[in-house]
Amino acid sequence: MTSEPQQFASDNYSGICPEAWAAMAEANHGHAPAYGDDLWTARASDAFRALFETDCEVFFAFNGTAANSLALASLCQSYHGVICSDVAHVETDECGAPEFFSNGSKLLVAPSAGGKLTPEAIRAIATARSDIHFPKPRVVTVTQPTETGQVYELDELRAISAVCRELGLNLHMDGARFANACASLRCSPADMTWRAGIDVLCFGGTKNGMAAGEAILFFNRKLAEDFDYRCKQAGQLASKMRFLSAPWVGMLESGAWLRNAEHGNACARRLQQQIAGLSGLEVMFPVQANAVFVRMVDERMAALRDRGWRFYTFIGGGARFMFAWDAEPQRVDDLAADLRRIASA
Ligand SMILES: *Cc1c(COP(=O)(O)O)cnc(C)c1O
Repeated sequence: MTSEPQQFASDNYSGICPEAWAAMAEANHGHAPAYGDDLWTARASDAFRALFETDCEVFFAFNGTAANSLALASLCQSYHGVICSDVAHVETDECGAPEFFSNGSKLLVAPSAGGKLTPEAIRAIATARSDIHFPKPRVVTVTQPTETGQVYELDELRAISAVCRELGLNLHMDGARFANACASLRCSPADMTWRAGIDVLCFGGTKNGMAAGEAILFFNRKLAEDFDYRCKQAGQLASKMRFLSAPWVGMLESGAWLRNAEHGNACARRLQQQIAGLSGLEVMFPVQANAVFVRMVDERMAALRDRGWRFYTFIGGGARFMFAWDAEPQRVDDLAADLRRIASA
């Protein structure tokens, strides 16, 4: 089968990276115990504990919607509220799954710039009401990097977690592109999470180069109580778990998780540098991870589509380009050249 030319509409258009693929192939010998009682799952969990330099609880789910929803559900009761940004994936792209799996915990949406929550915004929502008629705020969720590719600095995360501790709120991180944030800040996963006060992290594998799979890491182990039952009830317990966990061994032990993210980030910068300052095109957000959003008039969007490019406009109205582990630099340059052509047309 011939493959189509590479597109940058989403980082999940990409294939499976060699390290994940090789680990799956290696796991595909003989039989192994089911439902996570196998050596690959133990090894993947240990690889996470080594990478994060702590004895966290580790679980595996098929996708990010499930990981986020189940993690949030484990942090609150049905009458609690979850504070998130107005552009958070949990709010805009999970079809109500966080509310569904928590039996009704309401998402409390804060206006945000670039998808970043601030201590002030959190405090405002958490303290606005204390009467019985409003859901009691209990969780804050941050997306790192945000849906538009901004990265919280460590001191921003620490300031948020300080407010959370003060107000009795648990802190969750949607890390669908967590690796891209680590690559961007060049900081350790531990510094980005539990050392900054994160209680639970959903670490994305799919966009990082795996076929499927997200890991849920509980740094606050108390919060992981019965989480395995929650996963099972939600249809997220893989019977052949080794094929969900083995790719993580390949990703983490080889360092591919970080290399892949560095490559995606570099491709985003490569595009941005080539289109910066062109009249008629506006790079909408600071490029800090693997995303570039370009605002342009509809005629230019159409012209870009006519040149064969696919992209989505559902966030903020601009054209979104996302770069995965396998983004071809030449193809990035081709996109930049076409953007230059339509800008001057
Ligand atoms: C992709 C993504 C997810 C996970 O989405 P699934 O399609 O459910 O795997 C979660 N959060 C963010 C910010 C994402 O971009």
